[in-house]
Amino acid sequence: MELSPYYEKQLECLHCKQQFKTMKVRSNFIKVKENESDFRPIYENDVNPLFYNVFVCEHCGFSFTEDYSKYFAPGVKEAIDQHITAHWKKHSFAGERSIADALQAYQLGLVCGNYKKEKHITLAGLALRIAWLYRMTSQEMMEKRFMKIAREQYIESYSVEDYKGTSMNELRILYLIAEISRRMGDKEQAIRYFSIVIEKQRLFNEPKILEMAKDQWQRMREEKYSS
Ligand SMILES: [Zn+2]
Repeated sequence: MELSPYYEKQLECLHCKQQFKTMKVRSNFIKVKENESDFRPIYENDVNPLFYNVFVCEHCGFSFTEDYSKYFAPGVKEAIDQHITAHWKKHSFAGERSIADALQAYQLGLVCGNYKKEKHITLAGLALRIAWLYRMTSQEMMEKRFMKIAREQYIESYSVEDYKGTSMNELRILYLIAEISRRMGDKEQAIRYFSIVIEKQRLFNEPKILEMAKDQWQRMREEKYSS
């Protein structure tokens, strides 16, 4: 019998506490061929674990990831009831997801994360992934729109340092702010942040990031002086 790359997982909704099912990808099916310059993984097969990062509660619509905190600040539950659950028509995201399903799940996740006042680093990651999904469907305007949101959130995260204790570090955030700026056509900010990455790299052991930053920075400088 051939093993399916997917398995079902039972979760408890952080908001309404009811149980629901979601799909996950078995780790031995996850094969990254390469990463794009903003870290987007390109997979070797059709199995895309990115599609399954956001859990959508079929009962109340609250959507979250493994990075969300269990804590709800005062007023947050009421806001979610009013803005999400009140409009929610019960439906399940438990099966295999298309890009369109994944986009919907991520967008719900970003909206819920905003109401819940999740960390900027978490919101930035969601927005960046939405941009990647739009890139996969060649919707450039929407891709840029969400890259802009991701950049704002990374800048906030960098300034309040809420990335501490996550898998992201200062250098990677600075690099992403630079690279997202470059992709958005904002050369000034891109050059500014790439040079900060190069200045600060001594404090980190991230040779790959340094190399990527140097390449992109050089490319930006050449474009700047040639135009
Ligand atoms: Zn729920």
